[in-house]
Amino acid sequence: MERMIELVALLNRYNQEYYEEDNPSVSDAEYDALYDELLALEKQYFVLPDSPTRRVGGRTQKGFATVTHRERLYSLDKSKTKEGIVEWMDKVMAESGRFVPLTLEYKYDGLTLNLTYEKGHFVRAVTRGDGTTGEDVTAQAMTIRDIPRTIPFGGSVDIQGECIMRLSALKAYNETAAVPLKNARNAAAGGIRNTDVEEAAKRHLSFMAYNVGHVEGATFATQSEMHRFLQQNGFCRDQYFRLVQNGDDWKRWLDEVETIDRPKLDYLIDGMVFKVDDLALREELGVTAKFPKWAIAYKFHAEEVTSRVLDVVWQVSRTGKLNPLAVLDPVDIGGVSVSRATLSNISEIKRKDIRIGSDVFVRRSGDVIPEILGIARHNADSVEVEAPAVCPACGAPTVQKGVFVYCTNPEHCAPRVVAAIEHFASKDAMDIDGLSVKTIEQMYNDLGLRRADELYDLTKERLLTLDGFKDKKASNLLASIEKSKTTTLSRFITALAIPNVGKRTAEQMADAFGSIEGIEGATRLELMSLDDFGQVMADSVVDYFASADNRDFVASLLRKGVRIEQDTHPVEGVFANEVVVLTGALSRYKRSEAAALIKERGGKVADSVSAKVTLVVAGADAGSKLAKAEKLQIKVIDEAEFVRMLGID
Ligand code: NAD
Repeated sequence: MERMIELVALLNRYNQEYYEEDNPSVSDAEYDALYDELLALEKQYFVLPDSPTRRVGGRTQKGFATVTHRERLYSLDKSKTKEGIVEWMDKVMAESGRFVPLTLEYKYDGLTLNLTYEKGHFVRAVTRGDGTTGEDVTAQAMTIRDIPRTIPFGGSVDIQGECIMRLSALKAYNETAAVPLKNARNAAAGGIRNTDVEEAAKRHLSFMAYNVGHVEGATFATQSEMHRFLQQNGFCRDQYFRLVQNGDDWKRWLDEVETIDRPKLDYLIDGMVFKVDDLALREELGVTAKFPKWAIAYKFHAEEVTSRVLDVVWQVSRTGKLNPLAVLDPVDIGGVSVSRATLSNISEIKRKDIRIGSDVFVRRSGDVIPEILGIARHNADSVEVEAPAVCPACGAPTVQKGVFVYCTNPEHCAPRVVAAIEHFASKDAMDIDGLSVKTIEQMYNDLGLRRADELYDLTKERLLTLDGFKDKKASNLLASIEKSKTTTLSRFITALAIPNVGKRTAEQMADAFGSIEGIEGATRLELMSLDDFGQVMADSVVDYFASADNRDFVASLLRKGVRIEQDTHPVEGVFANEVVVLTGALSRYKRSEAAALIKERGGKVADSVSAKVTLVVAGADAGSKLAKAEKLQIKVIDEAEFVRMLGID
């Protein structure tokens, strides 16, 4: 009993923070665990009058006019397991005495909106509120571009859906925001439920329709008909919608959406919603105080949890930049134990107010590196993070340039030297097979290796002095080092690690100038005339070769026997003379794979859409690049056409 009172009070407080203040202090996963605990106790004993299991959502906010919904809005029953879904399906089928088709949709993670249209005109947008009364947010909804102002349907209709903030919009907003938004769901809710309409506009919110509520002037027999109606009226253009027939296909679909679609989507989904397709049958099945019995949500594993920041460590990169990394109290996210999260720089740490000892929201989606979204709560022993005054690896003083902190000791800072040699030997550079980071560290510590050109002075005798090196290993490594001496110009340029010059830019320079001497002598203007080359890159190249040390490094490599051969580019192939931009997500290939396939077939690949681009391959969720291509009237093809051009089955 005591525990029940405690849980009700706690959950009601969390509800207030979440629904009314749009500022939760616990993750959904934590909330759900407490909610499930309360449900189990209620099943065993009784339901307290103010239990959150009896109610939908939260109270309306001051500052907004309240509107009574024409039809009540509900929450959704949920299951975290497929067994739970089967149980629900069995119940539905038993009540109707036959197999009934179901529909399957994404469960969007945002804020419910009910839009009213009269005689084809958008007249009102109202939040779900407590299901009976919501807040009038018409002015805020007017800022959402995918809410049509007029629709072809001339009757009176309520359209329900989820107001969301796309992840790309959230990222763009947070890049300049004084106070970054913690997550897309609360960002959408906080934008809409904000009396300052400007704030809603700034967040570039979106709307995903999924239901027709009260309607006069049309009738529907099924959810599928409703979905078609929504599409015909300019909503849910390419939303996921499937009919679940007899059989187990739906189990595979759930897994596919969770593991393949979800990480690629530009918005949050926290599950899938099953609904009885037949609307007459829905009437028979009815509702509970909180949710309809004819629908259920399958909840995916949580991508967001909270954890404590135990420490912030600074890792030294090849360029000397100190990258902060949060050490977290290990926490499970979707079956993966997460104990570290990247932090961009000291300014981001300050903006998000991340402190050692504080609890933070952590997000991990697909294979993406875990990220700290924001603070859940500070604790009594929380301490602020300061940028290190000296390099943690070598003790040299640091300097701050813009938002980044750098070590000032390029020659004698072990991780920098090791990373530089690792880059030199990497696949896209000199491609020294079998030279691991561990071996480079041994060479640094035991053989005094300080610069990559010294690799070409190594002898078998010296290698054999290293721990773990026997005759065969030493011979193999020496053979790889020897083999790397024959290289191409683009690899050689990549190996030099000129700031801001990556593999692709190195290829462009190799194509344009043809020799290392040509590149050394290139002027800023000549460099800037290349595709994708800006002032910063051109300056980087010129500055690099202005340094006597760097010129000495290049000369030393050539003296030690490095031979540069011409890059070979096939000029024939389906993409010959094409400059291609890849945008959106392809289901069959990673970006890098698709780019390699284009190049193998004679094409060039560019990062951004410009007048020089001749073809754009648009995958799922293609964004601004696609829009720009259309504006410039550049030919756009989809993935199916791309695969056809590649000629691969
Ligand atoms: P819900 O958001 O989990 O599910 C119901 C809602 O799903 C509907 O109202 C609708 O808006 C939405 N939805 C999205 N796609 C849909 C589709 N295709 N068809 C139909 N509906 C769709 O339920 P809820 O009752 O609004 O919120 C409860 C959840 O909110 C909890 O499980 C918890 O995760 C979270 N919560 C968190 C806190 C916190 O402090 N972190 C507090 C309260 C609630």
